[in-house]
Amino acid sequence: MRIVAVRDIVSPIRSNIANAYIDFSQMTASVVAIETDLKVEGKAVVGYGFNSNGRYAQHGLLNERFIKRLTETKPDSLLDGEGLLDPGKCWAAMMANEKPGGHGERSVAVGVLDMALWDAVAKAKRVPLWKLLADRYNGGQYDDKAWVYAAGGYYYPGKDLEALQDEMKHYLDLGYSCVKMKVGGVPLAEDLKRIGAVLNIVGSAERLAVDVNGKFDLLTAIEFGRAIQSLGLRWYEEPLDPLDYLAHAALATQYAPPLATGENLFSMQDARNLIRHAGLRADRDILQFDPALSYGLVEYLRTLEMLKANGWSPRRCVPHGGHQFALNIAVGLQCGGNESYPQVFAPFGGFADDCPVADGRVTLPETPGIGFERKADLWKVMREIA
Ligand SMILES: [Mg+2]
Repeated sequence: MRIVAVRDIVSPIRSNIANAYIDFSQMTASVVAIETDLKVEGKAVVGYGFNSNGRYAQHGLLNERFIKRLTETKPDSLLDGEGLLDPGKCWAAMMANEKPGGHGERSVAVGVLDMALWDAVAKAKRVPLWKLLADRYNGGQYDDKAWVYAAGGYYYPGKDLEALQDEMKHYLDLGYSCVKMKVGGVPLAEDLKRIGAVLNIVGSAERLAVDVNGKFDLLTAIEFGRAIQSLGLRWYEEPLDPLDYLAHAALATQYAPPLATGENLFSMQDARNLIRHAGLRADRDILQFDPALSYGLVEYLRTLEMLKANGWSPRRCVPHGGHQFALNIAVGLQCGGNESYPQVFAPFGGFADDCPVADGRVTLPETPGIGFERKADLWKVMREIA
């Protein structure tokens, strides 16, 4: 199995939504296709990947460094014992001559290619990725379904409480039982009204999480935490700057219910610093490292190992991103579930068309690979690259 060509495009995913920190008016994503010479049922195996939302397309890094290294490395040195591409060896080739630390956005570029490599390998083995992962890394164990929650509740020009409630009703109608909304973009009193309005729709605080997107300083985070502490919300997400571990540790002494963070930590080493220094609690807090943004699944496997060594179960992990890659990982490695974006970041958010969400859970298709071919709007974009 050899890589014949790697192509990338920059796809716009712009929209008018905003969280407390950024708007998405200029958002883009890289999409790549890795074409191989291996034929399955007469057709060349092609793996696809993209970066999840919140970070921009990586055309420059991909072409100047990572695609170049991948395609210029001796092909045989990228193979496993079965003669298939070995994502770990590909990862090492891509990361040749990269210094440690300062992960920046190269982790996004590598993550895009890593996703495509895993898609290609699973297709070569003619199994869905979740099954490949269960067999290789999880003693053949996997979950029948993944717990998913609908992430939305963005700030949007002219969006009032009624529109927010309609959005949440729509998620419940789609089969979700838990939702998440943005907070921290307006004064506390206004956010409390928004939270109250959504609680009226979802019925129980256990079914609502709130997300600050790293906006608060410590005192504001504590003040906000005091205001919501008694509600019993599912979790309080990214209250603080994602890299300020000491502030997290301080907040954790003041806010007892579950905290969630990690979507903006892009390496095992950053995740390890969080675990070591942020005072998070392995019995309740949620870790949201996004494999697509943080050097891919090869690195995510290292992160899961690190977590286990520190007494954290993979069940505490609910990756950011709402993509099928993390969904396969959640099922095959038995993590806690996955984020989902039913209304935003089309066509990259969401799962297979014929696997609807029911009772807050989703099944995965048996399609070989990650399953992009079963999501028509996404497949339309991908098909054009190959
Ligand atoms: Mg978030």
